[in-house]
Amino acid sequence: MTSPSPVRAGQGWESLLGQSGDGAALLEAIFGQTGVGLCLVGADSRVLMANEEWLRSTGLTAEQVLGIDILDLFPGSRQLVASVYASVRAGKKARISRLRHDFQHGEGWWEISISPVPLSSGVGILISSRDILPEVLGERDRERLLLDVEGERAKLQTIIEQMPVGVLILEAPSGKMALVNKHGERLMGRPSKLPESLEQYSQFKAFHPDGRPYRPEEWPPSRSILSGEVVAEEEVGFRRKDGPRGTMRISSAPIYDEEGRIVAAVSTFYNATKHKRTEEAQSFLAEAGTLLATSLDYQTTLQSVARLATFVLADWCVIDMAEEPTPRRVAMSSTDSSKIKLLGEMQRRYPYGPGRPHPVLTVSRTGQSEIYPRVPDSLLAGMAYDAEHLRMLRELGAKSVMVVPLLARGRTIGVITFAAVESGRRYGPEDLALAEELARRAALAVDNARLYGEAQEAVRLRDEFLSVASHELKTPVTSLRGFAQLIVRQFDSEGQMDPNRVRHALQVIDQQSDKLSRLVSQLLDVSRIEAGRLALEKKVTDVARLVKGVVETAQASTSRHKITVRVPSEVLALVDPLRLEQVVTNLIDNAIKYSPEGGPIHVEVPAPLAETVCLEVADGGIGIPAEHRQGIFDRFYQAHQGAYLAGMGLGLYISRHIVDLHGGRIEVECPPEGGTRFVVCIPRGIGGDSSI
Ligand code: ADP
Repeated sequence: MTSPSPVRAGQGWESLLGQSGDGAALLEAIFGQTGVGLCLVGADSRVLMANEEWLRSTGLTAEQVLGIDILDLFPGSRQLVASVYASVRAGKKARISRLRHDFQHGEGWWEISISPVPLSSGVGILISSRDILPEVLGERDRERLLLDVEGERAKLQTIIEQMPVGVLILEAPSGKMALVNKHGERLMGRPSKLPESLEQYSQFKAFHPDGRPYRPEEWPPSRSILSGEVVAEEEVGFRRKDGPRGTMRISSAPIYDEEGRIVAAVSTFYNATKHKRTEEAQSFLAEAGTLLATSLDYQTTLQSVARLATFVLADWCVIDMAEEPTPRRVAMSSTDSSKIKLLGEMQRRYPYGPGRPHPVLTVSRTGQSEIYPRVPDSLLAGMAYDAEHLRMLRELGAKSVMVVPLLARGRTIGVITFAAVESGRRYGPEDLALAEELARRAALAVDNARLYGEAQEAVRLRDEFLSVASHELKTPVTSLRGFAQLIVRQFDSEGQMDPNRVRHALQVIDQQSDKLSRLVSQLLDVSRIEAGRLALEKKVTDVARLVKGVVETAQASTSRHKITVRVPSEVLALVDPLRLEQVVTNLIDNAIKYSPEGGPIHVEVPAPLAETVCLEVADGGIGIPAEHRQGIFDRFYQAHQGAYLAGMGLGLYISRHIVDLHGGRIEVECPPEGGTRFVVCIPRGIGGDSSI
């Protein structure tokens, strides 16, 4: 390859250079062949010779350079060139390590060296320029790469720091904790010093699900370092100093080098206490749901609920049903059987009562939950009846308590008390929400069980009623048929009949048909009441006369009872006379019926008040046991069940409705001397005093 010949300053340059012959030829060859840009400046400061590389480095052409004064060559840097030029001519060397030229097609970089050259004409200078663009570009690439790596590292660092989980990197095999992000530090309870070895992991208190503490080598990252195990979301129980219990989920994986050796482990972990609680709450509620659905005996159900709650939500749990006069304990459960004994004993010795505040009483009254994250001793002192009671309350050891109502159809039907003792748990809003949800479901189940019980009772009553009713209806029918057949038989056999016997038979037939018709009327009345169709036809009526009339009829039906009647001469009221007569008849019939030994019956209409008229029917009969007095006005209710006395348990039910429709009331009392007394009071419905 022939190298380009250098440009030179016209003919005679050799003489200018003081070289000739071989020397000049050699110089020319060097200029032409070197890969470095060269420019020779004569003692007169004009450019004597330059090669292609140098021209390229300056961006100038041969014409612009040759024979031109070097000081004029770079007008923009004239001063700088002049000073460099002067110092070089004075014998110094100069070097510009990096010079940048911007060309139209892009930038160029050169390293420039300037040295004095002794020429025959004086001191010239030699400028050499080396193209360093590839080096500069290489450096730039390296820098960029470095920056990229730094950037990535910073990004990674930021990601690790910002991750919503704890991240830690352990060196292998030592176990030295090389990196922990902020979140991780927080989760680890900000250890004063990061572990330098696996043994030092014993400072973190963690537990297996069975309560066994974790040994340092059992930690997931330890296992990754020691055996290369990849651990995914292992649940680790933890407990901080004085803090609540919790659950951490830890994942971990080993990091290998090119030779497959474990060099580190990376572990991520987060506080899964809430997740765990939610999961537990869900399964707890699901389990409770199953329990609640399995039994319709609500006491058994509530006992199971209390037991379940004892494992998940409380150390002890009691359930009281809201009953009058005080709540009734139906379920108790505790992780510690001695507490059950204590709870039972306290309930026996110090039942809930007025005068001493108790959260159970408050909640059953207000229907609002109460929560005591920390139970102050003053609360116990306020609840205690005496020193012994206070001692027992303290012994129960409730540190945190929730008292939650069992609400069904807007009514507080009971109260559940949850207490945390040795678990160190402090109840908060989440626990309360869970407790309330449990209580809601339990209340629903209890309500359903009660409704079911009531429905069953209604069915039982209906069946009983049907048997009573059919018996009641059959009796007069049998009697009717008997007498009718008797007449027919006698007539058939004798062709005629004794008029007295006929009269008697017809009398009985008349009485029995009357009874039958009354029973049927009662049944019709009941269905009218049930359908809300029992209507009154009110008119101004003399109640005194009405009562006297009923008494007369009743007296005619019995010779064993003496019915006395005391009424004012006239008491006017706006009533339905037929319905009121039905009430009075029923009361007097009952008085007769339930005084099987006979005896006096007293009927009275006391002097009426301006707005109310009352009537009383009192007998000396068998009376009504106290526990039945409440129920006798209910449908099908019979206080003397299975007794010899006929009836369907409907008379008083219908009477109460008639009295209710009149806007009045009916009451029963049994005086200590025996017998029964019914009092009916009805608004007169007419202005002024109309009694005479
Ligand atoms: P019944 O047709 O059974 O008499 P009632 O509705 O009239 O039905 O009465 C309901 C129940 O109340 C009776 O079964 C009876 O047990 C009780 N009872 C009603 N009146 C009297 C009374 N005067 N003395 C005692 N018990 C009574």
